[in-house]
Amino acid sequence: MIRAIRSTLLAAGVLSIGPGVPSAVAQSPAALHGLHVKYVRDSEEYATLTRMIYRTALSAVREALERTGDTTAWVVSMDVDETALDNSAYELERETYWVPFDSESWNSFVARRESGTVPGALEFVQAVRAAGGRVAWITNRDEVTREDTRENLRRMGLWRDTDRLCLRTDREYTKAVRRREVLTGEGRCSWDGRPVRILAFIGDALGDFPAAGEDIPDAGDDAAFGTRFFVIPNPMYGQWTRRVTRRWPWQ
Ligand SMILES: [Mg+2]
Repeated sequence: MIRAIRSTLLAAGVLSIGPGVPSAVAQSPAALHGLHVKYVRDSEEYATLTRMIYRTALSAVREALERTGDTTAWVVSMDVDETALDNSAYELERETYWVPFDSESWNSFVARRESGTVPGALEFVQAVRAAGGRVAWITNRDEVTREDTRENLRRMGLWRDTDRLCLRTDREYTKAVRRREVLTGEGRCSWDGRPVRILAFIGDALGDFPAAGEDIPDAGDDAAFGTRFFVIPNPMYGQWTRRVTRRWPWQ
């Protein structure tokens, strides 16, 4: 077991491969294990960063309202996991038992309705509501988790019945499709035939934001990050874990 762990860490470049070859970090495997989860759960830096992002997003929303003077219906688009709800307890459990993610254990965790909030998310949502906005929750959680998801959001003070909870029913029902439904007012992820404006998008993965080709202002525009698109850091999981080198994914 120890040998297998060491091999994994060697392969990941985390441990030194021999005398004279510098290691990436001078820590024991035990100390390294789960640091990405610990960063989310325990570091003041993570919480400060997420609060900062949410404050910036709120300023942008208020500025957009003042600049346009437009009083027609508006919403913010929010992802759920690692954007509003903090599921680091699930990650911690997986780490403890050395078992990877699987949808069965994930849905069981969701059914416990115990996820906390990402720092800053609640204050942001409350301020959005105070300013007259609503929330389109666009998440790739399974449709079977609808009631558990809504109840967890409600327990954390994040849910209102005037919101929309847009879950993934099948692979074709992408977040891009659901964003379109919000905007046009047509489809399950809409306010019943009523087109609405989306003043801000918040998420922890690039799939949470309009990509090039979507008929949405700023779609695929890197300059929109910080003004209309706001990314929450997620060092625990994501497509980046399977990517070898960074590249701009929308080109
Ligand atoms: Mg997420």
